[in-house]
Amino acid sequence: MAARFILGWMQILKDVPLSDYSTMRLGGVANYLTKINDRDEISEVLTWANNRQLPILVIGGGSNIVWRDEGFSGLVIVNHISGYDLKSFDETTASLTIGGGENWDQVVEQTVKAGYYTLAPLSLIPGTAGAAPVQNIGAYGSQLSDALSDLEAYDLHKNKFVTFLGSECDFGYRTSRFKSTDKNRFLITKITVQLDKNSPKKEEMYHSLNSYLTENDIQTRTPQVIRDAVVNIRNSKLPDPKTVANCGSFFANPIITTSELKRILDAYPDLASWHSKFIWELPNEMVKIAAGALLEHAGYKDFHDPITGMATWSKQALVLVNEHAKNTADLLIFKQKIIDTIQQKYHITLEQEPELLP
Ligand SMILES: Cc1cc2nc3c(=O)[nH]c(=O)nc-3n(C[C@H](O)[C@H](O)[C@H](O)COP(=O)(O)OP(=O)(O)OC[C@H]3O[C@@H](n4cnc5c(N)ncnc54)[C@H](O)[C@@H]3O)c2cc1C
Repeated sequence: MAARFILGWMQILKDVPLSDYSTMRLGGVANYLTKINDRDEISEVLTWANNRQLPILVIGGGSNIVWRDEGFSGLVIVNHISGYDLKSFDETTASLTIGGGENWDQVVEQTVKAGYYTLAPLSLIPGTAGAAPVQNIGAYGSQLSDALSDLEAYDLHKNKFVTFLGSECDFGYRTSRFKSTDKNRFLITKITVQLDKNSPKKEEMYHSLNSYLTENDIQTRTPQVIRDAVVNIRNSKLPDPKTVANCGSFFANPIITTSELKRILDAYPDLASWHSKFIWELPNEMVKIAAGALLEHAGYKDFHDPITGMATWSKQALVLVNEHAKNTADLLIFKQKIIDTIQQKYHITLEQEPELLP
């Protein structure tokens, strides 16, 4: 059982099993862990850690991280900073500032109830608002960077609060400065998004969302209709991390040149029709291809590995599931087996999406 230290109003826990702080439910032990509920608590916690020369890791809901078996000899800070501040500009647009520890899907739900379309495609993505900019969360043709105007973060190197405009976050496909050049430097305390009640045009809507609405004969396109459609599609394809240990898509969709694509399709002409959508065209003769289709084509859909206790999800091969793995080493063996197969078969190197910590 974890011991407790009291620091001001905060509790710092000792020897904490990190498997409780990742939806993959694997990993070793953290020397210390604390939850912060208010931005004013940050400097006090940091002073405590600095006095002991402890390294720091900031997390939210643990839905995009995998802890190593070695654990973490430092202090884990779990962001629970709450708060909503909605400022309407006019009848159709508004700006919403959200505490970094707020549950992302509850944020989306609130904005949809208030009649705003903007975040509806990002429904049901697990995790916190503060983590959303880190990998620039995205789904159904939308990504956070489309809506984020600015964010507040605490600079752990300079010990002060800073503000970044969206344009300063170096957003890309599932990435940002917080995942690359400034990894582990900032604790994101709040984010501000711009909301719009104007409905997107039918042709601007993501193909699978449009198909779902057409197939179900749904004519209206209210924000709630879009949210319900996204929730239904996601529930039909993805496991709920509350009941099935997983971190969502385990590999990012590869971005390759059109000539590499041609080489793959020449070798496997059936691949393009294997999945509902296999290719997304990008500028400069580049394409993004569905990693899930590669895994499925290679025989990894609903694949259960008795040796490692890991599996791929029955309805989406891209989701790796911990059925009865003993430790993170098992997951890493299973992951490597998939990477090697895809490399050998299609000459594509898959990139892991959830972060391996520390
Ligand atoms: C079933 C399932 C489906 C998913 N679907 C999608 C999807 O459709 N699209 C998508 O983009 N992602 C998806 N994900 C991944 C995940 O939900 C997102 O990456 C989410 O933003 C992670 O939030 P979190 O609070 O759990 O972050 P954590 O997993 O706790 O942390 C993720 C990273 O962010 C850092 N971090 C966390 N909070 C902060 C903070 N306040 N300040 C600075 N750094 C911080 C951590 O150090 C870590 O590097 C899915 C995951 C699951 C389990």
